[in-house]
Amino acid sequence: MSDIFTLLEPARRAVAAAVAVTRAVQADLAAVRRITKDDKSPVTVADFAAQAVVALRLGATLGHFDLIGEESSAALRAPDAAPLLEAVTNAVRTAERGASAAEVLAAIDRGAHDASAEAYWTLDPVDGTKGFLRGGQYAISLAYIARGEVVLGVLGCPNMSRDFARPFDAPDPHGCLVHAVAGGGAWCVPADDPGATPWRLQAASGRPLAELSVCESVEAGHSRHDETARLLDCLGARGIPARLDSQCKYAVVARGQADAYLRLPTSKSYVEKIWDHAAGALIAAEAGAIVTDVRGLPLDFGRGATLSANAGIICAGAEYHGALLDAARRLGLGD
Ligand code: AMP
Ligand code: MG
Repeated sequence: MSDIFTLLEPARRAVAAAVAVTRAVQADLAAVRRITKDDKSPVTVADFAAQAVVALRLGATLGHFDLIGEESSAALRAPDAAPLLEAVTNAVRTAERGASAAEVLAAIDRGAHDASAEAYWTLDPVDGTKGFLRGGQYAISLAYIARGEVVLGVLGCPNMSRDFARPFDAPDPHGCLVHAVAGGGAWCVPADDPGATPWRLQAASGRPLAELSVCESVEAGHSRHDETARLLDCLGARGIPARLDSQCKYAVVARGQADAYLRLPTSKSYVEKIWDHAAGALIAAEAGAIVTDVRGLPLDFGRGATLSANAGIICAGAEYHGALLDAARRLGLGD
């Protein structure tokens, strides 16, 4: 365990540096260069730059490391990609002054590990790219997986306020940096002051089911909004789900702002990616929440880059998880 704790500070510093970069890019959103990936999802200057910065920082402090990152440099190496590569290199220089384009490409490709190592990192450099593009919530998500278990997670949430009253679509000037090491609780500091004294996060309890508050994706294509409504109906819960992009939803549950995060599958064929869940799931669990898929199975991070044994997510305070799972079963959500 002590080995894992030595990885925490390098991980937090790497994510904090990436937060500074994505913030700088988001400040001029109209000018953000983006492309559309083969799976039709958007990727921006910020996604590439954040992956490069995290890899450069981990390399500087750890030397060797294995990383499964969401992005690859292929699109930046295309003949017509010179303006995009230049924009990415300039963004990286916000944190790494002297970085060259070649170093940036090489750093991005350090994320090409194949899960064959006993322990490796996984990174979603900008989780919730759609949220990033709409000026809403997004996260830099970095986790360390050892022998199939997530043992360290850091979520940089650049637009998430410490103030629960601030709407999710009103970006916060400071943001939150949330972290957990297995067995050590979940903690938070301001994203722009990672050296500050962390405060501990605790999932909610004590609310009657009728007042259950849940959160879900903004994108109906990522989680069935209609099934969330049916499930809440089943429980007699009257609240309206909060919608926000990215793994910030796990942080929202971890800090007791919502009682549950529901991700209800939109298709049988979609398999969740480890970088979309590893850091967030550990953080929520360390704050006292229970995290399973919609069938009640624990998330299996021992199967490479995807959660191929799982379907959807039910992440909820320990008092609520059983009722949500029962309702999901009654509605046949995992069938
Ligand atoms: P969120 O911000 O919670 O909506 O999640 C964003 C993530 O959803 C992206 O990083 C994608 O990897 C992932 N995603 C893409 N397509 C789907 C899908 N059909 N179902 C669930 N998640 C998806
Ligand atoms: Mg993602």
